[in-house]
Parts: sequence; structure tokens; C-alpha cells
Amino acid sequence: MQQKRGYAGLDWFRIAAALLVISIHTSPLASWSDTADFVLTRVVARVAVPFFLMVTGFFVLPKLVGGAPGRRAALLSFLRKTGILYLVSVLLFVPLNLYQGEYTGARGVVLFVRDFLFNGTAYHLWYLPAVLLGVLVLYGLLTKLGWKPVLLICAALYLIGLGGDSYYGFVENVPVVGQAYAALFRVFPYTRNGLFLAPMFLALGGALREREVRSRAVCFGGLAVSFALMTAEALTLRHLGVQRHDSMYVFLLPVMLFLFSSLLLVRRDAGARGRWLRELCLYVYLVHPLCIIGVRGVAKMLHCTDLLVEQSFVHFVLVALLSFAVCWVFLWLRDRACAALRGGDTPLAGREGAPAGALPVPSPRGRAWVEVSLANLRHNYRTLRALLPEDCDILAIAKANAYGCGDARVCRALWEEGVRTFAVATLSEGVALRRQGIGGEILILGYTSPQDLPVVAAYDLSQAIPDVQYAREVQRAGVRVRAHVAIDTGMHRLGERAGSLDALLEIYATGCLDVRGTFSHLCVADCLDEDNDAYTRAQIEAFRQAVEALRAHGVQPGRLHLLNSYGMLNYPQAAWQGARPGITLYGVKSQAGETRLTPALRPVMAVRARVALVRRLETGEDAGYGRNFTAQRPTDTAIVSIGYADGIPRSLSAGEAYVLVRGQRARIIGNVCMDQLTIDVTGIEAVCPGDVVTLIGEDGGQTLAAETLAGYAGTITNELLCRMGPRLPRLYDEEEKREA
Ligand SMILES: *Cc1c(COP(=O)(O)O)cnc(C)c1O
Repeated sequence: MQQKRGYAGLDWFRIAAALLVISIHTSPLASWSDTADFVLTRVVARVAVPFFLMVTGFFVLPKLVGGAPGRRAALLSFLRKTGILYLVSVLLFVPLNLYQGEYTGARGVVLFVRDFLFNGTAYHLWYLPAVLLGVLVLYGLLTKLGWKPVLLICAALYLIGLGGDSYYGFVENVPVVGQAYAALFRVFPYTRNGLFLAPMFLALGGALREREVRSRAVCFGGLAVSFALMTAEALTLRHLGVQRHDSMYVFLLPVMLFLFSSLLLVRRDAGARGRWLRELCLYVYLVHPLCIIGVRGVAKMLHCTDLLVEQSFVHFVLVALLSFAVCWVFLWLRDRACAALRGGDTPLAGREGAPAGALPVPSPRGRAWVEVSLANLRHNYRTLRALLPEDCDILAIAKANAYGCGDARVCRALWEEGVRTFAVATLSEGVALRRQGIGGEILILGYTSPQDLPVVAAYDLSQAIPDVQYAREVQRAGVRVRAHVAIDTGMHRLGERAGSLDALLEIYATGCLDVRGTFSHLCVADCLDEDNDAYTRAQIEAFRQAVEALRAHGVQPGRLHLLNSYGMLNYPQAAWQGARPGITLYGVKSQAGETRLTPALRPVMAVRARVALVRRLETGEDAGYGRNFTAQRPTDTAIVSIGYADGIPRSLSAGEAYVLVRGQRARIIGNVCMDQLTIDVTGIEAVCPGDVVTLIGEDGGQTLAAETLAGYAGTITNELLCRMGPRLPRLYDEEEKREA
């Protein structure tokens, strides 16, 4: 199981891309062969900038597609960060501009503005205005259009760019077209800019995020073939002498598609080192021209330009070494300074937002953790779905962090299975899911303060309406929200009374409510004794009658849903158009006991922790807070690194409850502490520090079910699972397809 799969392929390729950019500006092979240098710097190295653009598209564009929540904020944040970087870079190169006597006089101002907007004020800086403009262009396009038309438009722009770049000789003298390019070049010195080049590669990166190429053979084969074709294309164009510039080729597109896809196949997590690499390579990109000047200056001073500059490969190596060294030292000093500012030698690893550098991170299975089987979740979904009629769909209950299993990952997996409606308990849960890119309908089952209704609307959430009073509040707030009306059929929690027809009619007539559904909730569907069975049947009948009465008054109640997990297992005939299973999706029942239907569900969650130490207690010795355990005989105990702060109920103290270690049962003794608990391992062979203890799940053929542990704790599995705390890392059996 992996906790999080990074993009190690992309991270590591940055080093290659940075070296390629340096090679473009130092021509390493020039003193050996012109053609070899052309192939290296004008063909191979031309993948570098498109690669950086695709990385940006891959990570940034998904946040900017039309309808994505918070897309404006995401755009502004990107523009701000990149803009600041650009301004700092421009300032960094001002001395060079002055030294070279650029931008002087009135004409100089015009040129400066032009370069600042499109071309960069130093020869390599064009990348930053290009990525800024390109992202703006795509933001505009993606507002209304899907990926296919956007890719087509970007390809058309790229085609125009080609005409002004490698293919210029062909169009230069075509009537109208040649003049159009001449006019174009009065504004942009080159077409490899934010309008004609950047959008294509940004869009390609963004589209790959939507749909990866998974086959190794296709990726590597495609890369080899398209690369050969690009080399042939470039050499031919060079031979014909038609190139005005040499940044853009037709076959650069398939080369980048297959190169990027190949890199995506390497999905280890580069961890904190990944972030550090990203920064290092970016800075190398930005400062290497200064290092070129530095190397040349030193060579001159030492009177050995013959060796250090004229030998182009030596020159390249020196510039590359100097660039990486300078940026490395800069990052190291910066992390040091940050550490000092944050208070002495406090390590920075793991602090969100802190420059973690290459510091190591805690291993996810170091102390205590939760394992989540999305495969079992998918199985449970399919199994439960099969219990329902064709026209009835599942509203997946993902409240309380999806019963402790991790709501975004759970919703994503269920989305892939076809679920399009999710339910949460609170507004912030709904907002968090949207921010992590969960689409479809998200219904808030619990209370939302009327003053937060604009948030409900902004994130396109649906709100359950608990009574007519609340409907009036919505009307007063004047915010139009999508809603499901809750009807109380006997639980007497949230919901307008099934018998209060006037109140119900007023809710549906509320102008600000866009009612999409109507539901009720069962409170004893798990109890099959005569009395409770009759109560549930009465609830179902009350719901039916209320809906009928509403319809008789011309009301459209929308989608009808009633059944929770036990409703599905015991009263599947009352399905209507939706069912809301929670605990059964996660593969367990609330407690041991009979149900009418007995589908084969598989537990989704396992909980495990490490043994910290093993200690023998002599007869009469006490252990733990309150000395709640006294050894009646020599007893081998183990301290387990998990406690009630992690979600293990304190009510498991000193009772019959047991855990599994080395495939055997070991009783919990003494009081459960905040961060530890003690078990009796007498008679279990060779228990030692670091051993894995299973609190929920399987170990060596033995199973400790959540129902069993919940029973010992005097609670139900719903509470047990949803209380598993944020301190426990969640480890999933499937790799993450997209970064949250
Ligand atoms: C929590 C909840 C559910 C799911 O209940 P389970 O017993 O876990 O299936 C369904 N409907 C509503 C309104 C809920 O609050």
C-alpha cells in the first residue's frame, strides 16, 4: 500500500531539462561538430521549455477549467506567484541590460515594454511572460470550451507560430501571409511566445492530467519514432535554409506527448526532495546566464579562455556546475535562515509550507496507521448497488471523512464506479470535497447557518431543508440554493413532520429553493422484532403518503430517497430513486446481528500500530494510570503505540477486549492512555519492539472485526471508524491517479 504517489519522473527530468537549457546557451558540442551541436541544442534541447510548460499545464490547468470551484482564486494565485518571480528575475538582469547599453532613449522604453510583455528582458526570460500569457489564454478558452476544442485552437495557434519559426522560409514570400507575418514581427520578435507556443504545451499537459497514456510500449515506441522524425524534420529545414528561428517543429508535439507520458509512468514519491528539486531547477534556469558571464570573466582573468571558453564542452560543464552550485548554496542558506527565524534549530520537515529542503519525512508505518482498501470499497458499492432496482442509484455517504477512510479518495473511487451523488454532514466537508475536485451533486445532510448560504451556492452544494422555519430563513437570505427536503416520519430529528402538509407545501413553494429531492430517515431499521418492524413499516408508509399528498397538490418532490444501510438490508422494497448507505459501503455492519439480506461485504478499514517495548511484570506489580492492572502471575506486557487521541476508545480499558499480534489474540490490560495502550502478550512467542499490532483487521489468518472491537467498547462501528484521528496516516491500496 502506498500513502501518496508523487511524480518522481517529472521531478527528476527537471534536472535534464535545466541542463538542456544551459546547453542551448553554451553550445557544448560546437567545437567538435556543427551538426552535432545543432542536433543537441536545436533539436534535443527544444524539449526543455515545452516540458516546463506541460508541467505547469498538468498541475495548474485542472484548477482552471470551467466550473471548477475557486478557479478565479487559483488563477490569481498562479499569476501572483509567477508574476513576482518574473519581476525579481527582470530586476536581477537589469545590471546586465545597463552594461550592454540596451533600452536607452525613448525607443528603448518602447522596446523594454515590448520585451517585458512578450519576449523577456534577457534572452532566456521569455519563458515567464510566455507562461503567464499562455495560462491567461487557456483560462479564457476553458471558461466555455472542453478539452477537444481547446486543443484544436491551441494547435491552430501553434501552426501560426511554426510559420514564423522553423517554416518561415516557406511563407515569407507568399503574398498577404508574408505581410501578415511582417506585421506580427513588429509586435513580437519571435512567434515562440505566450500566444503561439505556450498554449499548445500548457493544454497538452492539462489534457494529459485528464487522460494518461498508460502503456509503456506506446509511450516508449512513440517517443523513439517521433523523435527520429523530429530530427529528420529539423535537419531538412536547416538544409533548406528556411528557419527564421528553431524552437518549433511539427514533430515536437508527438515527442512531448510521448516524453511526458513516459515520465508519468514513474510514479514514486520523490517526497520533500521533489519540492526541493523543483526549486533548484527553476533557479538554475533563471540564473545560468549570470554564470556564463562569471565563467567567461574568470577565464579572462586567468588568461585561459582557450581552454575554459573556446573548448565548448568544458565551458558547458563549468557553467552547469557553477549554476547548480550557486543555486544549491542559495537554497541551503535560505533554509538555514528560515530555520533560524523559526526558532533555533527546530527541524523543518513536515511543517506545511516550510521549505523542507531535502530533510527526511516520517515513514507512514512508523507508529500507527489506517489502511484503506479502495478495492473492497468498490466491491461493496457494486454489491449494494445490485440489491437496488435499476432506476435507483446510491447516494454515497461520505460524512466524517468518509467514516474515517479519507473522503476525497473514497469519493474519487466511487465516482469511477459511477456514483454521482455524495452526502456529507457539514458545509466544510462539502467545500473540502469540491476543493479536491469532486464533481457531481454533494448534499449537506446537517445544519448550515443561513449566513453561510452564499458558500453553499458558490460551491454548488445542495442543502437538506430540516423544516419550514429554515426554508423561510433561506428566502430571507435571498440566496438561491439547490435543496433536498427532509421529511420527519418518526425519528423526530431533522425534517418537517410528514403530517404537516401546509408547512411542506410552503417549503416547496419557497422561491429561493431549487428542490431536487425529498427524503426521510429510518431510526430502527436494524431491529427486526415485531414492534420495531411495525414502526419502520409505518415510517415507510408515512413517507409514501406525504409524497402522494404533495403530488396531489401539484408539487414535484424530485428524487425520493429513504434507505440507510440497514434500510437497504432489511427493507429493500422501499428504494424509490435513491439509497444512502454509509457504514455498509465501508464493509461492516453497525453491530453484530441478523439482517434480512446478507450481502458479502468486505471491510475497507484496518488499523495497526507498532509495539514500542516489551516488559515482564512480576506477580503483584501494577501497570498504567490508576494502577488499573495488577499482575496475578508473571506477565509479559507490550506497550502499543496508539491511544485514545488516535481514536481507540478509552472504554476498552481493562476489559475483555483484545488485539492481534503475531496472529494471536492479546488482551488489552490497564487503562488506555492518550497515546499508548498495554497488552498482555504472555505465551505469545517472540513479541518484540517494532512488531505490528492489529486493532481492526486481519493478521496471520485471524480476523478482528470492527464489530467485535466496537462491541467491547460499548459502541457501534460507525462511531469507532469515524473517530480514527488525523494523527493516523491513511494508506491506500491503489495509487493516486491525480494529486489532491
Ligand atoms: C449518516 C446517515 C446515513 C448513513 O447511515 P448508515 O447507517 O451509516 O448507513 C444515511 N442518511 C442520513 C440522513 C444520515 O445522516
